[in-house]
Amino acid sequence: MQYYQVADDVFCLRGTDVNMVLAREGGALTLIDAGWLKDADAIERSVRALGHRPEDIAAVLLSHAHLDHIGALRHLHDRYGIPAYTAPAEVGHARGEYHESATPLDVIRRAWKPRTLAWAVRIAAAGGLRENSAPHIQPFPTEGVLDLPGSPVPIPCAGHTSGHSAFHLPGAGVVATGDALVTAHPTSNIEGPQLLPDFFNHSTGGALDGLAAFDAIDADLVVPGHGPLWKDGIRRAAEIARDRATGN
Ligand SMILES: [Zn+2]
Repeated sequence: MQYYQVADDVFCLRGTDVNMVLAREGGALTLIDAGWLKDADAIERSVRALGHRPEDIAAVLLSHAHLDHIGALRHLHDRYGIPAYTAPAEVGHARGEYHESATPLDVIRRAWKPRTLAWAVRIAAAGGLRENSAPHIQPFPTEGVLDLPGSPVPIPCAGHTSGHSAFHLPGAGVVATGDALVTAHPTSNIEGPQLLPDFFNHSTGGALDGLAAFDAIDADLVVPGHGPLWKDGIRRAAEIARDRATGN
């Protein structure tokens, strides 16, 4: 199965080495992030396996515009008319007006090892070498809590990209951290809460500062953009990631 349940009415969908989060309220859904281009099938299969239709997705919230998160946005809009929202500072990135990321070739060059190559092969198959953008994306329609299933609250945490957001689902005690904090990555040697390797970050210093956004959040469950579910609280996760990044 390509999803697992995180909490009541919250599910983690698995794409190609990347996670997405689905929040449910009654018959309506909010999808947080959208995998790689070819993860659209995995999203639709998971939504149907949960007894819903893709049209039940009221909106997609985008943490940031990297190719492994923006993947199915355009498909979900063109096929089903599903809107997408991100932070105002991420809109231009998501519309493809500029790029803030290492290309897969950069990554292979700078982090070569057999498992990086295996990852590169998987992401190429997932459409990861193609340009992708979401011309229809809009900034969050309101500040603070969004009027969408799960009542998600964006948490601004720029650094990994200039307009990166995480999302808090307060009723479920879940935070979807996107790439502001991950618990593993195929190109990383370590497991547990961490920042992504430098070459993926627009600003690693910024990403480190961005962890402070989590210190005020009360949530036990963390679904990162990459890696397994973390159950020991978002604050502890941020503390571990900070200590690792600063060598403490
Ligand atoms: Zn990213």
